[in-house]
Amino acid sequence: MKKSASKLTLSVHAGSMGDPLYGGVVTPIYPSAAYDYETEVRYPRYYNTPNQKAVVEKLVALENGEDGLIFSSGMAAIMTSLFAMIKAGDHVLFQNDLYGGTHHAAVHELERYGIAYSMADVSNLTNFEKAIRKNTKVIYVETPSNPLLKITDLKGVARLARKRGIITLIDNTFASPVNQNPIDLGIDIVTHSGTKYIGGHSDICCGAMISSKKLTEQIKQSALHFGGSLDAQTCYLVERSLKTIVLRVEKQNENALAIARYLQSESKVDGVYYPGLKSHPGYALAKKQMPGGFGGMLSFEVKINPDKFIKKLQYIKRAISLGGVESTITQPVKTSHAKLTAAERKAVGIKNNLVRLSVGIEDTKDLIADIRQAL
Ligand SMILES: *Cc1c(COP(=O)(O)O)cnc(C)c1O
Repeated sequence: MKKSASKLTLSVHAGSMGDPLYGGVVTPIYPSAAYDYETEVRYPRYYNTPNQKAVVEKLVALENGEDGLIFSSGMAAIMTSLFAMIKAGDHVLFQNDLYGGTHHAAVHELERYGIAYSMADVSNLTNFEKAIRKNTKVIYVETPSNPLLKITDLKGVARLARKRGIITLIDNTFASPVNQNPIDLGIDIVTHSGTKYIGGHSDICCGAMISSKKLTEQIKQSALHFGGSLDAQTCYLVERSLKTIVLRVEKQNENALAIARYLQSESKVDGVYYPGLKSHPGYALAKKQMPGGFGGMLSFEVKINPDKFIKKLQYIKRAISLGGVESTITQPVKTSHAKLTAAERKAVGIKNNLVRLSVGIEDTKDLIADIRQAL
């Protein structure tokens, strides 16, 4: 598959194999966990079975990487990639507004292995640079961030890291490979919670990392120890989902922008956080580094009781997770950021009346009408 092909074409064709036996057009499901070892030692936990390879090839094409691995969850992808890069005595620098699960994992896992970490505001790169230590091994970023959609300057972060030999790792879940390709901007390792836009139908839990051949091989050596591999049947579903990721995300981008604009003019709403709004502090940066679009995630503060508001919604479902074809809504204080202390939430700017909307592929007018009637 030509690398120059458009994402629409790559999403359908890259990696997909067809059936050599009967001439079927889709990749057959190969569930074997036992393979003849004379040709190549294949095994699901070695990340080299046919369905794993097919889905990885598609992701690598969409992210403009060289190689990658598919995992059984986003956290497996993130923690395996991170742990493969560090050892006792190293320091990891995180941006301070992280997915709640990653924040919790950093706080509870790293220090007991002798790994130091700190979290710093990345909106000002000069200040962020001051948080780099002599033993900083990895810089970890996430953009747009959850739930306030803050935008991190990926080229800027990559520049700071490269000149010091520091590895950069991004959680690219919110943007999806359709909207943002961090490897093009100099970031070393891209991770995804595939549970979100990659799966796209709220029915798959998986994760992925995409990088250079060299770093992927290094991560693979740890991955086969940690064991977070994905089975053939689910890999097939992920491959199937990826064939429509461009169509889905483009519609989600369009819906989210329309909803954000509507919310700005709504008197029962306070702040609206969406990087596609000119009023968003990260707008200019997002326009540059997210060529595919601003994404399907937005959040806003409601002036009415958020529980009552959410209960009144008809199409938009109250549910955790995100990135599905169906619109879903959460309260970060009750869900993704429930494990943060009130002080930690205040520090990153998450108010109690903040709601986070994952916009689906429904009709734009129906979604806006649903929000309007609930308000
Ligand atoms: C959901 C999510 C994760 C964790 O992924 P799982 O698939 O639940 O393990 C990590 N980062 C972000 C931004 C997420 O939304």
